[in-house]
Amino acid sequence: MSPDILWHTLESADALQRLDSSESGLSEAEVTLRRRQHGANELDAEPHSRWPAVLLRQFRNLLMIILLLAAGLSVFLGDWVESVAIVAIVLMSVILGFVQEFRAERAIAALREMAAPTARVLRDGHELRIPARELVPGDIVLIVTGDIVAADGRILEASNLKADEAPLTGESVPVDKSTGALSDTTLPIGDRSNMLYAGTAVTYGRGRMLVTATGMASEFGKVAGLVQTVKAGLTPLQVQINRIGRWLGVLALLVIVLITLTGLQRQQGLFEMFLFGIALAVAVVPEALPAVITISLALGVQRMARRHALVRHLPAVETLGSTSVICADKTGTLTRNEMTARRIYAGGQNISVSGSGYATEGVFLAEDGGKGITEPLAATLRAAALASDARLIEEQGAMVVRGDPTEAALVVAAAKAGLDKGRLEQECPRIAEQPFESAARRMTTLHRCGDSRVAYIKGAPEAIVAICSKWLTDDGEAALEADHAQAIYQSARNMAGEALRVIALARRGDVTLEECDKDLVFLGLIGMSDPPRAEVRQAVATCKSAGIRPIVMTGDHPDTARAIAQELDILDKGEVITGPELSAMDEQALARRVTDIDVYARVDPAHKLRIIEAWQKHGKVVAMTGDGVNDAPALKRADVGVAMGIRGTDVSRAAASMILTDDNFASIVGAVEEGRVIFANIRKYLMYLLSSNIGEIGLIAGATLAGLPLPLTAVQILYINLATDGFPALGLSVDPPDENLMTQVPRAREEGVFSRPTLLLMLIGGFWSTLVNFSLFKWVLESGRGLSEAMTMTFISLVLIQFFKAYSFRSVAVSVFRRPFANKWLNLAIVWELILLSLIVYLPILHEPFGTFALSVRDWGLAGAVAFTVVPVLEIAKYALTKSSST
Ligand code: ADP
Ligand code: MG
Repeated sequence: MSPDILWHTLESADALQRLDSSESGLSEAEVTLRRRQHGANELDAEPHSRWPAVLLRQFRNLLMIILLLAAGLSVFLGDWVESVAIVAIVLMSVILGFVQEFRAERAIAALREMAAPTARVLRDGHELRIPARELVPGDIVLIVTGDIVAADGRILEASNLKADEAPLTGESVPVDKSTGALSDTTLPIGDRSNMLYAGTAVTYGRGRMLVTATGMASEFGKVAGLVQTVKAGLTPLQVQINRIGRWLGVLALLVIVLITLTGLQRQQGLFEMFLFGIALAVAVVPEALPAVITISLALGVQRMARRHALVRHLPAVETLGSTSVICADKTGTLTRNEMTARRIYAGGQNISVSGSGYATEGVFLAEDGGKGITEPLAATLRAAALASDARLIEEQGAMVVRGDPTEAALVVAAAKAGLDKGRLEQECPRIAEQPFESAARRMTTLHRCGDSRVAYIKGAPEAIVAICSKWLTDDGEAALEADHAQAIYQSARNMAGEALRVIALARRGDVTLEECDKDLVFLGLIGMSDPPRAEVRQAVATCKSAGIRPIVMTGDHPDTARAIAQELDILDKGEVITGPELSAMDEQALARRVTDIDVYARVDPAHKLRIIEAWQKHGKVVAMTGDGVNDAPALKRADVGVAMGIRGTDVSRAAASMILTDDNFASIVGAVEEGRVIFANIRKYLMYLLSSNIGEIGLIAGATLAGLPLPLTAVQILYINLATDGFPALGLSVDPPDENLMTQVPRAREEGVFSRPTLLLMLIGGFWSTLVNFSLFKWVLESGRGLSEAMTMTFISLVLIQFFKAYSFRSVAVSVFRRPFANKWLNLAIVWELILLSLIVYLPILHEPFGTFALSVRDWGLAGAVAFTVVPVLEIAKYALTKSSST
C-alpha cells in the first residue's frame, strides 16, 4: 500500500478494506506474508557489537599498543624469545577481556529481549498477546489504559479513549480519541483524533485499532531516537572506576618516562629500561578491572532475571544493593491477587459465600439461616457482573478468567447465583462506561435494558455510599438514612478487618453517565479474600534483618491493609494512615512522621510521590512498586522504580528501572540481595587487583631506593599483571555471598566502593606484600646466592601472596578460615595458576624468557611461608576493623 494514504480521512470500513483486513483480524498465513513484506515492527535499534568489534576494542588500550610495539622492536634487536613471551602474555589478556565482554554483551541483549513490549491482537478471531515487534499492517490491536501504543493505527472502536502524545507532538495534555472519519487532509498529527501513534501512551479508556504502519514506517520511527528498551549506559561505579583508570594511566606514563631516564643515567641499556618502564606502567593500571566489572554487572543482572527481576537500567543494579526502604503495593505484590468473594451485605443482611478460587459452585448462607437469593442480593450480584470487564471463559473444559481479579471474583460470585454475565449482557447491553480510576475509586457502566437505561456503579464503599440517597430493601427502594449508612460502613469495616477487600455496588435508572455521581440506590457490599503470598513472610523477615524497612502503600481500605500487614509482620508498632490524613499533612509534618508509618491506605498515586520524597529526606534509598499509568512520576522519582510484569501497564514499565516478572514482593528482596552480592564482589576484586599492584610497585620502588638490582624482570611483571591477575579476579566476581550479607544494614547512599575496611585491607595487603617480598629478596641476595635465584624466589613469593590475598579478600569481615574453599571458580583459577607457575619454574625452555631458575623444594617452602604471612596479618586487620566498627 502506498505510504501516503491519509488514514484519518477514511471511514473505518474503508480503511479495513484497503488493508485487506477485517474486524476479526488477519489470518496467521497472511501475517507471515506481511511480515516478510514489511519487516519486524521495530525501530532500527542500535546494532549490538559483533565479535570482531569487541575483539578490536581490547587493543584500544594505549599500554597494550606500546607493549606490542616494544615486542616488535625487541625482535629487531635480536631478542625474539622475550618478544614471543610478551606477545603470548598480551594475547592471553586480550582473550580474557574479549570473552568477558562478549558474554556481557550477550547477557544484556538477552535481557533486552525479555523486557520487550507486547501487544494484544485479534488474529483469526482469537485474542492473543504477542511481542509488539510481530505486529504487521492490517492487524487489529486491542488497547487499554496504560498501554504504550505499539504501531500507528486507525481507531475502530473507542470508549473514553485518551492518549498522551507528548513523545510525538510535545503536547503533554492527553487528547480525546474517537472513531469518525475526518475530512481535513491537512490536519497535523496531533489533531488526527481517530488515529493512535506508536510510542504514545493511552492514559484513559479502551478501544481497538487497525494497524496502518509499523516499525520505521510509523510516525515515531520517522522521528525515532527514543527507543524504550533496556538502557545499557555506564553505571556510576563504572564511571568512577574509569576515572581512577585514567588517573592511573597518566601515572603509568610518568613511570615509563622516569624509569627510562633513570636507566639512561645509570648507563643501563636504554631499550631494556624502556621495556621495564612499560611493564611497570602495566603494573600500575589494573587492566582486568573494566572487563571484570562489566561481566559481574552483566552476570548479576542475569541472576536477577532468574529470580524474576528484570533490570531495565543498569545503574539500578548498584542502587538496589543500598536499598533501605521498600514501598510496596498490597494487592498482587504482597497478596496473590486471586480474589474470592466471601461475604456479602445486602438488604440489611450479612451473607456468607462458600466455594473456592474461580470455581462457579457455591452457596449463599444468610445470618438468619436463609439460603434463598433475596432481591437485594440478586440485584447486588447483577450489578457486580454487569459493571465488570472481566470475563469467564471456558478453556479446555475448565473455567478461566480474563481481566482484573477483583472483577473476576464479582463475576464468579454472580455465576454462583446462576447469573451468567454473558446472558445478562445480552438482556442489557452496555452502551457507555466510565473506567475504574484509582483516584476516584469507582467505575460506572451504562446499559440499555429494554426501553430504559440503567447505570451500575461499583467502587470503594466510601466512594459509593457517599453518593447514594436510597438503598434496596427486601421490599423495594427506601431512603438511605444516616443510621443505615453507618450500618453499611460498619459492615464494610468488619469485612476489612478480616482482611477482605470490599466493593460497594449501586445503580441508578434513567440517567446519563455524567449524572452518576449522585442520587444512587445502594445495593450491597461484596467482601473478597486475597490470601498473602506464601513467600512474602520470609521475605519480610529477611528485609527486617537486613535493615530494610518494608512499607505498604495501597488503594485499599485501611483495615484490610492493616490485617494483611499484620499477618505478614510488616506492621507491629508502626502506624496506619490514610490518603486523606496524608493530604492534611504538610511536607515537614510528613517528613517528621514518615519513619513511624508502616501502612498507607486509600492512597492515590500523588501520595506515593510524597511518601518517597519524605523518606529520601531522611537519606534513605527508596524502592517503590507501581502498576498504573499515574504511578509513572513516583516510579521515576524512586531510587529504584519497580514495575509489574504481569499486572502493570506499559507506561509504568517504561518509567521503572526494574520489572518484576512475577509481580512478587519476595522478588524485590531477592534483587536487593543480588545487588548486595554484586557490590560486595566488586569490592573483593578491587581489593585484590589494586593491592596486588601496590605490592609490585612497592617492591620495585623499594629495591630501587635501596640501591639493589631490579627484583623482577619485565616479562615477570607483565605475566603477573596480564596473565595471572585476571582469573582470580574473575573468580572473586562470582564469589558466593558472605553469610552476613542479609544481616547487615544497607550501605549508605554516599558510600562508594572504597569503604574504610575495603581501603584499609587493600593498603595493608599491598604494603605487607611489599615488605615481605623486599625482605626476602634482600635476604637471599645477602646470603650469597645468585641474582637469578633471588629473583625467582621473589617472583614465586609475589605470585603466591596474591593467591593468599585472593582468599582473604573474599570477605572484609568474615575470617578466611570460615569457609576457605567455598568459591569453586576461585579454586579452579588458583589451581590453573599454580600449574602455569610450576611450568615457568621447571620447564627449561621457559627459563630464558621468564628469567627463572629451577627451585628446590626448600626454596618453594620458604617463598610459600613468606607469602603466607599475609593471611594472619589480614585476619588481625579484619578483626580490628570489625571491632572498631561495632563499638
Ligand atoms: P490496590 O491496588 O492498592 O489494592 P486499588 O486502587 O486497585 O488499590 O483499589 C482501591 C479500591 O478501589 C479497592 O479497595 C476497591 O474498593 C476499589 N476497586 C478496586 N478495583 C476496582 C474495580 N475494578 N472496580 C471498582 N472498584 C474497584
Ligand atoms: Mg489495584
